[in-house]
Amino acid sequence: MSRPFKCRHIGCEPGINCFKPRGIPLAELQEVVLTVDEFEAIRLADLEGLYQEEAAKKMKISRQTFGNIISSAHGKIADAIINGKAIKIEGGFYTRTGMRTFICEECSHDWELGYGTGRPRKCPKCKSSTIHRAAPDKGSATAGDCCHGKKQRKRRSE
Ligand SMILES: [Zn+2]
Repeated sequence: MSRPFKCRHIGCEPGINCFKPRGIPLAELQEVVLTVDEFEAIRLADLEGLYQEEAAKKMKISRQTFGNIISSAHGKIADAIINGKAIKIEGGFYTRTGMRTFICEECSHDWELGYGTGRPRKCPKCKSSTIHRAAPDKGSATAGDCCHGKKQRKRRSE
């Protein structure tokens, strides 16, 4: 599921796409989703210290729009830090199609879910919560969202 989105000029893509409080399995955390344009706005304004005018120009949007994006980004980051939520960076002009595959570590059952349906908490077969996202299909470079994409710890102590 992809919501309508106006393409914005992004100078750099986030290298890491998920942050989470340490020691808590992602499945138990609430998540805030930072879009790539929000990420870029933070980078330009807060890291590079550009004025909103300049930053807006770089992203080829109006200063007003830039202001909205950055205040939305600040709100999400504050929410995550204060309420201990994971921050996921995705969206923006990325379009993702296809299905995500999850695998149960308990019974090896695997199943597919479309995007936008949220992350499942339990294996539909054995109800175990030790599930992980299977590696994304080759070729979809941005599909490996969140910490669960590639390197999953073998087993979590619960
Ligand atoms: Zn299972």
